Amino acid sequence: MTIYEEEHDLFRESFRSFLSDRVTPRFEEFEKAGIMDRSLYPEAGRHGFLGMAVPEEHGGGGVKDFRFNAVIDEELIYSGGGGGPGGFTLHNDVCTPYFIEYCDDEQAARWLPGIATGELITAIAMTEPGTGSDLASIATTAVRDGDEYIVNGAKTFITNGINSDLVIVVCRTGEGRSGLSLIVLERDMPGFERGRNLDKIGQHSGDTAELFFDDVRVPAANILGEEGHALEYLQFNLAQERLSIGVTGLAAAEAALGWTVDYVKERQAFGQSIASFQNTKFELADVSTEVEVTRPFIEQCITQLNAGELSAAQAARAKLWGSELQGRTVDRCLQLFGGYGYMAEYPIGNAYVDARISRIYGGTSEIMKTIISKDVLG
Ligand SMILES: Cc1cc2nc3c(=O)[nH]c(=O)nc-3n(C[C@H](O)[C@H](O)[C@H](O)COP(=O)(O)OP(=O)(O)OC[C@H]3O[C@@H](n4cnc5c(N)ncnc54)[C@H](O)[C@@H]3O)c2cc1C
Repeated sequence: MTIYEEEHDLFRESFRSFLSDRVTPRFEEFEKAGIMDRSLYPEAGRHGFLGMAVPEEHGGGGVKDFRFNAVIDEELIYSGGGGGPGGFTLHNDVCTPYFIEYCDDEQAARWLPGIATGELITAIAMTEPGTGSDLASIATTAVRDGDEYIVNGAKTFITNGINSDLVIVVCRTGEGRSGLSLIVLERDMPGFERGRNLDKIGQHSGDTAELFFDDVRVPAANILGEEGHALEYLQFNLAQERLSIGVTGLAAAEAALGWTVDYVKERQAFGQSIASFQNTKFELADVSTEVEVTRPFIEQCITQLNAGELSAAQAARAKLWGSELQGRTVDRCLQLFGGYGYMAEYPIGNAYVDARISRIYGGTSEIMKTIISKDVLG
């Protein structure tokens, strides 16, 4: 039983070939450079792997079906590539929906075609040096001056921070929770500087950067939706963002299980294969049970999202469970690789360091529990 149909299977095959031809052979290069070659975005766009939900009139696929996004998320992980290639996930699952939902006609004509072709790479900047979980404390300001906003402040930990052309910046335009707005900053606007490409413990091929805004004059025409509605708009897509991390978490656990099964059958110790030890069997039995139990839940969440019925609490459960499953599975599987598991050349080693962030970004596990407990307790 699966929610995927023939068209998703064909899309999967096609994206898998793209990864094995164009991305996987260069993955080491990207890991060393700390960034993925941005030319892969237009390549992915040409093949229809970006902007699947962007309306056809703006050059997109015109299909709002998160199963296509999930196929991309899963295949990226199965291929052993996180970080840079994971920028496709951020572009498709996290940023593009805001443009589709909140662009007016002029903005849609200006931005959506580039988003669908990959000529315009997107990012979203919520987190600041002084605030992450507590979005209501955002301090970056956007002050209206005639037909422009003047933006001042700083953001940090921004995925696609270096490669991005369009950054949705959460800015303070007024007081309190209803004083936040989404304003799109474009590459090369005077006063918009990129800081360091941050040195992370994992996801090395992904560019994660600081952004600085010093009196950046942004046309008022770059606001998404209405002033003061940022928290409501963020709420609109947070469920999809969190489900996306849940999908990735499950895929990472599935991938780790597959790599480990192959390894333990090959590796010998004490004259027998590692697979023959009872501990190995029990570990893999546990992991496989958790993976099998999780898949229907995640697929049910995808179905609910497609039907517009995925609640904030259910998305938080998908994120919490998927990311925690990912963390404990890669840890248990790496143990069965022994010392080789600690070597960067084995995908399980990369999967281990890449996994750690899943419990933090998109809202930490503690924040997910806060959301879920409100649903449980009322
Ligand atoms: C690789 C990477 C990529 C990222 N990409 C992006 C991006 O593209 N855009 C973006 O805007 N941000 C991004 N982030 C930021 C990320 O979303 C934040 O780091 C995350 O939301 C946590 O915020 P914080 O780091 O300020 O931690 P804090 O909010 O300071 O939290 C510190 C600890 O306190 C706990 N805590 C906080 N509040 C509570 C509470 N109410 N109850 C219980 N515990 C609590 C947290 O769970 C955590 O354990 C990224 C981060 C990383 C590392």
